[in-house]
Amino acid sequence: MLIPALSYAQDHTEMVKKIYDHQLTQSPVYENLRYLCKEIGPRLSGSPQAAAAVEYTRQLMMDYGFDTVYLQPVMVPHWVRGQKEITRVTNSDIKGAFELNSIALGNSVGTGAEGVHAEVIEVKSIEEVNKLGKAVAGKIVFYNGEMDPTKVNTFAAYGSAVVQRAYGASEAAKNGAKAVVIRSMTNRRDDIPHTGSLVYKPLMPKIPAVAISTNDADELSKLLAKQKGLKIYMETHCEMKEDILSYNVIGEIKGSQYPEEIITVGGHLDSWDVGEGAHDDGGGCMMSIEVGRTFIEMGIQPKRTLRVVMFMNEENGLRGGTEYARVAEEKGEKHIAALESDSGSFGPMGFSSMGKEEQRKKVQGWAKYFTPYHVWSFERVGSGADISPLESQGVFLMEMEPNPQKYFNYHHTNADTFEAVDKRELELGAATMTSMIYLIDQEGI
Ligand SMILES: [Zn+2]
Repeated sequence: MLIPALSYAQDHTEMVKKIYDHQLTQSPVYENLRYLCKEIGPRLSGSPQAAAAVEYTRQLMMDYGFDTVYLQPVMVPHWVRGQKEITRVTNSDIKGAFELNSIALGNSVGTGAEGVHAEVIEVKSIEEVNKLGKAVAGKIVFYNGEMDPTKVNTFAAYGSAVVQRAYGASEAAKNGAKAVVIRSMTNRRDDIPHTGSLVYKPLMPKIPAVAISTNDADELSKLLAKQKGLKIYMETHCEMKEDILSYNVIGEIKGSQYPEEIITVGGHLDSWDVGEGAHDDGGGCMMSIEVGRTFIEMGIQPKRTLRVVMFMNEENGLRGGTEYARVAEEKGEKHIAALESDSGSFGPMGFSSMGKEEQRKKVQGWAKYFTPYHVWSFERVGSGADISPLESQGVFLMEMEPNPQKYFNYHHTNADTFEAVDKRELELGAATMTSMIYLIDQEGI
């Protein structure tokens, strides 16, 4: 009997299940993250640990049998913290002199051994500091704008509040402030200060900046409400040194049908110099390597070229992501899609994306494959920072979206350690990323 040939779209349900099963039973991802966090540790750009992480991930991808593994040179900023920061209230009528839990912001200049001792003035935003104008001259500006707790997407709350950390120093300096103290970027009330990068505006005086814990920010605010002329002594020893040579680490598996079409997946290998850079972004790196390893281990030959990238210097410069896109353009490479994981290693919920509407619709059409794994969010618009420079080349961009509620408990702190990552959530993340890359590879985008 002749059966008419009908061309049905291929169903990927079974393969996606195999990928999840593989990750949940045989994945080395958690042990790889342990090595990165415990044997190498925090990996600030320019540090010996960042160099060790480059070598570790290069070796890992070679051991897993990637077709090509190479380093892409990139000059990165080299900022060092120096000895522990001091931020001290010196003249409280109620508490006398006492220390605040503080940490210098990345890229900040230091006060040096002489420190800065000045009256504190509290504001909630950059607009407020601009309204005060010269009233901030000679003072330490205390930015106490909170992350909006009503924003259930904590990344949106972060995005609104973080302008104080990024630009607050220059905005205060332009009216003569001596230094700034920033409320840490978290919804939680605790004693942990959060670092993160600041950006000095050109031609503006560079003044020192620290973050204090949310408990201390609340306390300081209460004291300021009761006492005029409250003073802080701040002492930091951080400094920006000369740029230094580092690398993006790139591992490739060549496509069998369309080798010139590149699909990139990655995270950033650098981290802050406190904690172990586990959620930010060791997990994203280790999950990305898993995508390639899983293809090889399960014998899936990609149609298109799969490229796993460990980006360097996302935290205080984005030099790695910028250089990767520049080289791609210079070589005339054809990237069809790029996926990043840089929102922590919590249980995956879905993917945000940026591209043409029909591309986003196509991805949303794959939601059915993820439903059994409680992965459901495919509507949000967004991408990762490291891959964002590829946007101008018309590349379809995606970021994995884990549950965002706990991320800012750890972000840029000494609490971002291996122990803060859950093995099963990390494995589910690796399976979710691998499945998405598998679908893009099979179906195109
Ligand atoms: Zn990050």
